[in-house]
Amino acid sequence: MEIVPIPLLSDNYGYLLIHADGTRAAIVDCSEAAPVLAEVARRNLKLEAILATHWHFDHVGGNEEVARAVPGIRVLGSAGEEGRVPALTEPLADGDEFEVVGVRGRAIAIPSHTKGHVAYFFQEGTPSVFSGDTLFAAGCGRLFEGSAEQMAHSLAKLMALPDETRVYCGHEYTEGNLRFAHSLEPTNSDINAKIERVRALRADDQPSIPSTIAEEKLTNPFVRASSTELQASVRARYPDLGDDPIAVFAKTRELKDNF
Ligand SMILES: [Zn+2]
Repeated sequence: MEIVPIPLLSDNYGYLLIHADGTRAAIVDCSEAAPVLAEVARRNLKLEAILATHWHFDHVGGNEEVARAVPGIRVLGSAGEEGRVPALTEPLADGDEFEVVGVRGRAIAIPSHTKGHVAYFFQEGTPSVFSGDTLFAAGCGRLFEGSAEQMAHSLAKLMALPDETRVYCGHEYTEGNLRFAHSLEPTNSDINAKIERVRALRADDQPSIPSTIAEEKLTNPFVRASSTELQASVRARYPDLGDDPIAVFAKTRELKDNF
């Protein structure tokens, strides 16, 4: 399948998944209907499914309108967010498999930003994962409905995917996230190199997405609790911090909330 990011709202991305035969598509995180329907029409595609990572309005705001415009469309989302994901027709639990645009996918429960947040993983070809507002490029979502421990566990589940997996997240936050990452690990050359790459892309109005799981392991402070430079930076602000990775993660998240 081909994956096409569609900029939505102020800094969201929806992702159009296009069948290899070029006739059918699905949309991941349909925050608004009009730009999605316009892109589908422009490419002369038939929209067969919406996939929702979580119930927040800036990820599902277009579901009802698209469901009205495309009768019979499938709407996949978290079983844990039934009633909150509009127009949901296929509730999925952790590990549930499904097929869209001729490709098999798997739902992975990654709670904490919201209680029922799911990622969608596709193994075929170059693997890809749609991580919503849980894993961002060089960042993670806020802990609205879960604990730091839960978020750290959810991120660890994603880090266990193959290194080459492409990461498609819910927002264009990469540049700001990397500035924060750099503040904790100023000598991390992977972070510094990625800042340059992302600045060039953004200056050219290109998405900084996708990242990869391998890049996240090297640059994302929320999966780098074992970095001694990061630990030292966090400890400079919280002198009582031990070396428990969850505690390091929790304080890193707190620092980001106030960055
Ligand atoms: Zn959200």
